[in-house]
Amino acid sequence: MEPGGACRRGPTGHDRARCLEGAPRPSPPDTLRGVELVDGVLAGDRRSVARAISMVEDGAPELPELSAGLFAHTGRAYTIGLTGSPGVGKSTIAGELVRVAREGGRSVAVLAIDPTSPLSGGALLGDRLRMQTHATDPGVFIRSMATRGHLGGMALAAPEAIRILDAAGNDLVVVETVGVGQAEVDVAAATDTTLVVVSPGWGDAIQVAKAGILEIADVFVVNKSDREGAEAAVRDLEQMLRMGPELDWTPPVVATNATGSDGIGLLWQAIEGHRAHLETSGKLERTRRERLVREVETRALESMRANVRGGLERDAGLAEDLLSRRIDPYRAASILEERVAGA
Ligand code: GDP
Repeated sequence: MEPGGACRRGPTGHDRARCLEGAPRPSPPDTLRGVELVDGVLAGDRRSVARAISMVEDGAPELPELSAGLFAHTGRAYTIGLTGSPGVGKSTIAGELVRVAREGGRSVAVLAIDPTSPLSGGALLGDRLRMQTHATDPGVFIRSMATRGHLGGMALAAPEAIRILDAAGNDLVVVETVGVGQAEVDVAAATDTTLVVVSPGWGDAIQVAKAGILEIADVFVVNKSDREGAEAAVRDLEQMLRMGPELDWTPPVVATNATGSDGIGLLWQAIEGHRAHLETSGKLERTRRERLVREVETRALESMRANVRGGLERDAGLAEDLLSRRIDPYRAASILEERVAGA
C-alpha cells in the first residue's frame, strides 16, 4: 500500500486506522475528554483507546458522551470469543489467531476480560506478556480489562469495550475470558463466533454438557493435541454433538497444538466457515440486532433498578407506611414506578 493511500481512498474509521498504522501517531495527554477522546479513538490512537477502555472499567460518567461519538463508527469488526478453563491455552491460541490475522493483513485487537478480578492487569498480565511478540506491531492492540466499577458488570462492559476497539479500526476483535459461569455466557452473547477451548484431561464430554457450554460453542477447540487423550476428547465431543438436538450449525471440533502452531489453519477455516454460515443465513444481522436490543433493555433496566432502589432508600416515609401496613407492597411499588417514570 502506498503511504497515505488508504487516507485518500476512504474516510471510514477502518481506513483511517490503517492509514495511520505506518505514520507516527499523536499521543494526547491522559486527561483528554469528550470530543478529543472520540477523535483519538477513531484515529486508532492507542492511548486514547486504552483510556476509553479504562473508562468502561470504571463505569465513568462520561461514557454516554463517548458512546454517542463512537456508535456510528461501529458494527464493522468481526468478533471472536475465546472461553475455557484457566490453563487450557486460550492466550496461546489468541496469539496464534493474531498471527494468522496479521498474515492476512487484518488489524486485530485482543481484549482479555477477567471477571474475577477487581483490577485489570493482575492475573491476565502474564497472558499479555505471552503475546509480546505482537506488542510492537501497530496493527495489534492487546489489553486486559476488569469490570470493577461498571454498573451491570460484564454483560454491559464487554459490548462497550468491543465497540471502542471496533471504532478504532480493528478488523477483528478477539475477546478472551476465564471460563466461569455467567462470564462465559456474557462473552458468547457479545461476540459473533464463540470458541470453547478444552484440553485433554480437562474432563469428559459430560462436563461440557453439565456446564451448559454446548449451547454457547460455535467451534470446539481441543488444544494440546500433542498430549495423550486429545483424540478421545475430540471423539467424545463429536459423539455428544451427534446425540444432541438437531442444530442449524453443528460446531466443528478442531484439534490444535497452539504452542506448535498445529491445527491453527483448520481452526481459522472453522471460524471462517461459521462466519459464512452466519452471513449467508442472515443470522449475523439478526443476532447483532437482537444483541443491541437486549443490551439497551439491560441498560434501561439497570438504571431503573438503581432509581427505584434509591427512591425507596431515600423515602423513609414510604418504608414506614409499608412497615406499619398503611400501604401494601403493590401500592408502594406503583408509587415508586410513577416516580421513576416521571423523573
Ligand atoms: P490460558 O490460561 O487458557 O490462557 O492458557 P495459556 O495460553 O496461558 O497456556 C497455559 C500453558 O499451556 C502455557 O504454559 C502454554 O505454553 C501451554 N500450552 C498452550 N497450548 C499448548 C499446546 O497446544 N500444547 C502444550 N503442550 N502446551 C500448551
